[in-house]
Amino acid sequence: ANLRPEGAEAITISVGNFKGGVSKTTTAVTLAQGLSLLGHRVLVIDTDPQGSLTTLFGILPDTEVSEEDTILPLAMGSETSIRYAIRPTYWDGIDLVAAAPVLFGAEFALPARQTQEPGFEFWRVLDLGIDDVRGEYDAIIIDTPPSLSYTTINAFMASNGIIMPLPPNALDFASAAQFWSLFSDLTTELLSKRGLDKEFDFIHVLLARVDSADASSNVVRQWIGQTYAEKVLPVEIPKTAVIGVTAAEFGTVYDVAKYDGSAKTFKRARDAYDSFVSYIEGSMRGVWAK
Ligand code: ADP
Ligand code: MG
Repeated sequence: ANLRPEGAEAITISVGNFKGGVSKTTTAVTLAQGLSLLGHRVLVIDTDPQGSLTTLFGILPDTEVSEEDTILPLAMGSETSIRYAIRPTYWDGIDLVAAAPVLFGAEFALPARQTQEPGFEFWRVLDLGIDDVRGEYDAIIIDTPPSLSYTTINAFMASNGIIMPLPPNALDFASAAQFWSLFSDLTTELLSKRGLDKEFDFIHVLLARVDSADASSNVVRQWIGQTYAEKVLPVEIPKTAVIGVTAAEFGTVYDVAKYDGSAKTFKRARDAYDSFVSYIEGSMRGVWAK
């Protein structure tokens, strides 16, 4: 019942925000595992040279990931399909394209090619690179760096939808606002003068790492509601030590084999992610139904 309609392609989702530490990587991995538990086949692409997502899959970016395992050859132009970099993970039904510090080279390769190769569109490299495999997955989830980099733009341009995790505190709110305005200026500048258009099928703001002990969070939650209105998902991910603990063991709240799934804090976090994942699955169905 969860299957992608005949002939339909994977829904591609970027998890992005300017800021580090807002739960982007945690959101990307947990979403991938949650969707997989609903029967979906998922490809996760780590585009952050820090390789945190890669690490959460138990693979060490420094020693276990080489240049050819990352999207760097796509960025450099030595490959045109991402297939070369796809590897299975310990999690049945989830494949991975890893990242490592060497991937930072994409920030030099892409603008250099833009100058040197006539007609080259630096923002479409990943979009074109995943075309070859879109028919083989239900979801392609892209984790992005904490900056509006060339790589982040590639991730967004390849995506049907965006999820922006946002903890309800004042500084994270302020930087998220900058993120959107810079991003929209940039895409308008890039695309409109070429008569192109990029319309996302969905943009979701996820209140993440919500600290119920933080007295300011209610005020900021209101600002977020006013600014992002219907983009804000009706679900919040609580700040809980459980998520830190699972990360320390290279896992998520869905790795129940490792943890006591009945513990109260654990269950609260899991329930929140269950609702989040089912909203996203709804968005995927919405795109397939179009
Ligand atoms: P980003 O990718 O935006 O930098 P991460 O997902 O790496 O953010 O999260 C940053 C840190 O916060 C990590 O140590 C992670 O385990 C922790 N974290 C993320 N979400 C939560 C949460 N809901 N509760 C507690 N800790 C969290
Ligand atoms: Mg991250």
